[in-house]
Amino acid sequence: MRYPDKIEFICEKCQLTSGANQVRKGLGRCSRCLGESWTINASWTDTWSETTAGDVLKSVFATLLLLPIMLLAVPIFLLSALFGGDFSLPFGLSIFKTKRKSTNQRTAEGVSSETVRNLTLEPSSVESRVLSYLSLREQQDLSDSGAQTCQECGSLYVPVREKSWTMAGYCSKACAANSQTSP
Ligand SMILES: [Zn+2]
Ligand SMILES: [Zn+2]
Repeated sequence: MRYPDKIEFICEKCQLTSGANQVRKGLGRCSRCLGESWTINASWTDTWSETTAGDVLKSVFATLLLLPIMLLAVPIFLLSALFGGDFSLPFGLSIFKTKRKSTNQRTAEGVSSETVRNLTLEPSSVESRVLSYLSLREQQDLSDSGAQTCQECGSLYVPVREKSWTMAGYCSKACAANSQTSP
């Protein structure tokens, strides 16, 4: 699984944002207010560039503007080539691109100082520890909301009255059917 690009520890008392090193130094307490309750924020950011319709227009416009200069440069280039010079054409087609960014985030609130201290104990394993902690918390939140474990496949689901198979202990119709056929 991909590690988060950024992990932040936010003090729930004074809102100070700390990194893992700072939290480790403070032994799990906030370095500003000695707060002991944290929000953990892990984020994954993807950046890429795209050519939009606006970029194409800008590129065409820039090329038109530069065209006369490029044409002027051609004789200079030829002359310098003729006399053994080392002059290369400085202009090309400029293609504009637009930078795009998208960020995914996973958050856990109300994390104790002891947990935070354990998560940050080893600098090399902060990412993997935080990741498994976040997954654990997400499962916990699901079971707090009344989720049950499917008798057939073991996944968590929330029973709904309208779906009879969920009331019978299965996450899906397929799982309910499987349990009938399996010995
Ligand atoms: Zn604080
Ligand atoms: Zn199931």
